Amino acid sequence: MRRHIAPVSPAPGIVLRDGQTLINASGNDYLGLVHRPELAERAADWAARFGTGAGASRLVTGSFELHRQVERKIARFKNTEAALLFASGWQLNAAVLPILLAACAPARPVLFTDRLIHASLHHGILASGLRQNRFRHNDLDHLEELLDRAASEPGPRFIVTESVFSMDGDRADLVRLRRIADRHDAFLYVDEAHATGVLGPGGAGLSGEAGGVDLVMGTLSKAFGGFGAYVAGSQVLCDWLLNACSGFVHTTALPPPVLGAVDAALDLMPTLDADRARLQSNAAMLRDRLGRAGIDTGASSTQIVPMMIGAAEDALRVADAMREQGVLGIAIRPPTVPLRGSRIRLALSAAHSDAQCEAIAQAAITAWQSR
Ligand code: PMP
Repeated sequence: MRRHIAPVSPAPGIVLRDGQTLINASGNDYLGLVHRPELAERAADWAARFGTGAGASRLVTGSFELHRQVERKIARFKNTEAALLFASGWQLNAAVLPILLAACAPARPVLFTDRLIHASLHHGILASGLRQNRFRHNDLDHLEELLDRAASEPGPRFIVTESVFSMDGDRADLVRLRRIADRHDAFLYVDEAHATGVLGPGGAGLSGEAGGVDLVMGTLSKAFGGFGAYVAGSQVLCDWLLNACSGFVHTTALPPPVLGAVDAALDLMPTLDADRARLQSNAAMLRDRLGRAGIDTGASSTQIVPMMIGAAEDALRVADAMREQGVLGIAIRPPTVPLRGSRIRLALSAAHSDAQCEAIAQAAITAWQSR
């Protein structure tokens, strides 16, 4: 007899928690692709045809034509010469940054980072042993000031930022960042985890707007509805990483079913303009409703809409009150966000119905008022 196993996420926009069915208002399945049949079908097809695992790392026997096919598709999608797949976005940032910075030896790179960059970027930089010159969040005047102040320091310059910030939902000005990087002969590294699939032409992210960045990464686990990550850039850099980056070389290659889902998502990307527009209009509606209720949503201009609260206990209380109304909104507290920066990180999906968006707004407002 087949046993029924309750799925954790039975439908787009819905999540099961402790037996309770909740509207998921804090996930990263921004386009609802996790439940698209095209992804599930290709994942099942590639599992049946090529097996459930790659069985080895890429440079041993784990590199199938499938990996190279998906990498070529990602490079076309990102409009770069080449791309490389990694096991996850966290692992990519933690592995690529140290090797990139170490490659400058004996020169000592001078690093400039946005104050709110993701933990995985910090981790990669930490491994390099280099000091960070941290500029105030999205404050490019401050970045220029720090660059000028470091003018006498020898060594190549690196600027590290995100195109959409994971906890604030605001965007970096990549056009200006590119100009600043060019003026200071700096290498620009951009994390597009939350823009990939969502923003830019065909969902290609924001790096294209700037006329390209030196190295760009993104994850395949959020809007792409799958798993894994990519780094995209010049052929020379990708070829070098393929041989030099331990986080690529010494780990098992992505399994065929995951690649199948990603491949199907890549094929769908040009057809999802209406979904991307719906996602942003869902977010605009939420920002508007919260704003009119007096709730601060920071500088959000994307599908990530933080409900700024301040104290961690208050954020937990608001999350509990939302849950009582059937909505899962996750309280994010320090050290993930700055001290007194606790918030509910609301993140919408194109798969949320109008009724679900309304329920999220209503639950958030009621919970905030009763905090
Ligand atoms: N970068 C950013 C900005 C992220 O928000 C995340 C995921 N939280 C990652 C990288 C890591 O990606 P992955 O989940 O694929 O490990």
